[in-house]
Amino acid sequence: TEELLRKSDKLSAVGQLAAGVAHEIRNPLTTIKGFLHLIKSGSCKVEYLDIALSEIERMESIINEFLMLSKPQAKNFKITDPRILIKNVITLLTTQAILKNVQILYEFDSNVPFVMCDENQLKQVFINLIQNAIEAMPDGGNILIHVKKPDTGNILIRVIDQGHGISEDRIHRLGEPFYSTKEKGTGLGLMISYKIVQEHNGTIEVQSKINEGTTVDVLLPSYREEAGGFDAQSQNR
Ligand code: ADP
Ligand code: MG
Repeated sequence: TEELLRKSDKLSAVGQLAAGVAHEIRNPLTTIKGFLHLIKSGSCKVEYLDIALSEIERMESIINEFLMLSKPQAKNFKITDPRILIKNVITLLTTQAILKNVQILYEFDSNVPFVMCDENQLKQVFINLIQNAIEAMPDGGNILIHVKKPDTGNILIRVIDQGHGISEDRIHRLGEPFYSTKEKGTGLGLMISYKIVQEHNGTIEVQSKINEGTTVDVLLPSYREEAGGFDAQSQNR
């Protein structure tokens, strides 16, 4: 804890930003690397190139976002189908999952409402959560992702893993900057995820059992109740 305090004390706003950028850029880089390896080994599919290209575009937009220091809250909110967003994220992480012997399964409710969100940012949240789930299962396993409508006004996106879990005395530390139990972890993924979800008026809740697994619930307001009807004009920023 002492070291943690010292760390966050010393880190200037710029330093934190730099660490954040490095962390966020590493995910798409890993994906691109994976696809380039596949292509090098002879299985060149247009789909791989498309995904690599869209990952490069994502890095570009992340960098641009961080460069807009004068407008740190600049967001690009759009009406989004959460199921399509989750499917895209699963596609991005498929190579990584296969390499780790992890299967990503999903179950979507048929009547899920839209969500008003900054797509790239919300994608980043689920990339972080699913990567944590993969990393919690060094011997492989299944990840199950639910997209549900638990009640009026909300959308629930649940990520369930069968990993090593988090002990009760550590669960409250999740989201703390630089809290990581991993050798190569940054401890920024959850902090960034909590912040993004908060900015979408949502919440993140974590339940976990040692050696059984972890369930992360992301609750977001659904679009209709939020906006009080379809009024694209007043929603444009
Ligand atoms: P990092 O992944 O770089 O360590 P995160 O902020 O993403 O940083 O996560 C912080 C810590 O929370 C991890 O180091 C790990 O100890 C714990 N954690 C997060 N998600 C899970 C999970 N699904 N299963 C087990 N532990 C987790
Ligand atoms: Mg992480």
